Amino acid sequence: MVDRGEGGTYLLLLARSGDPDAPGKRAPTTLLLVPTDSPGIEMRYIPKLGMRAMGSCEVFLDDVFVPDSQLLGTEHQGFKVLLTSLNNERVMSGALALGMLDGILEESVEYAKNRMTFGKVIGGHQIIQHYIADTVLGQKQSELMVFDAAWREASSLPCHQEANMVKVVTSELAVAAADRGIQILGGMGISSETHAQRFWRDLRQFRIAPISNEMARNNLAESFGLPRSY
Ligand SMILES: Cc1cc2nc3c(=O)[nH]c(=O)nc-3n(C[C@H](O)[C@H](O)[C@H](O)COP(=O)(O)OP(=O)(O)OC[C@H]3O[C@@H](n4cnc5c(N)ncnc54)[C@H](O)[C@@H]3O)c2cc1C
Repeated sequence: MVDRGEGGTYLLLLARSGDPDAPGKRAPTTLLLVPTDSPGIEMRYIPKLGMRAMGSCEVFLDDVFVPDSQLLGTEHQGFKVLLTSLNNERVMSGALALGMLDGILEESVEYAKNRMTFGKVIGGHQIIQHYIADTVLGQKQSELMVFDAAWREASSLPCHQEANMVKVVTSELAVAAADRGIQILGGMGISSETHAQRFWRDLRQFRIAPISNEMARNNLAESFGLPRSY
């Protein structure tokens, strides 16, 4: 992940290494920190729906030399090294979604209190109040789950399933809240003058990355002793 392929100084690269058919649970991989100015690297910026402040690129590597000093952890054990960051990434994505939920709530309430139609504020209509109440419910559920998973992780307790759960629940609650946020703002929700459309665009990827909600659900079901489905 680099900033339009221009700003990033390093790529965190998980490279296949050794024999992919070697016995063992996973094919051998090695984690490398590769300077983006190394000869043989080409990056092409990918325009995307949301999270535009964070650039995403296709990366092409052609005979790139990486010195031993750039090896992270142990050779052929790259995925094992990466594993230590996966729970954290899922909890962090939950916290990001929660932050956006806070923003959606703030903007929705402010607008509902001030926008007048037919001589009344729209926040006086029960349906708008229910939209806001649903966002409040989602915000609280997300907050409790984020705090629980973050506390478990910070306390070095097992938290793999909590990290999966927080990722799935917060992304789905936040995407639904972002959609309601636009509805509450009406036409202004579509306008780039307001944050509502950006929350909606930025949040959509959270159902896909860093792990898709379908894969997180696969993991959850598997943890109850069901066979691996993939
Ligand atoms: C903005 C952005 C930034 C990203 N940044 C990074 C990054 O920095 N580093 C990095 O390594 N990756 C990154 N990713 C990749 C991200 O982890 C993947 O997009 C994500 O894991 C989904 O994989 P995929 O896109 O290949 O979808 P696919 O695997 O092609 O899946 C497509 C659809 O099929 C479903 N599906 C696939 N397999 C199964 C299965 N077995 N059971 C049920 N459903 C299934 C998926 O859930 C999804 O709905 C990023 C993605 C995005 C969108």
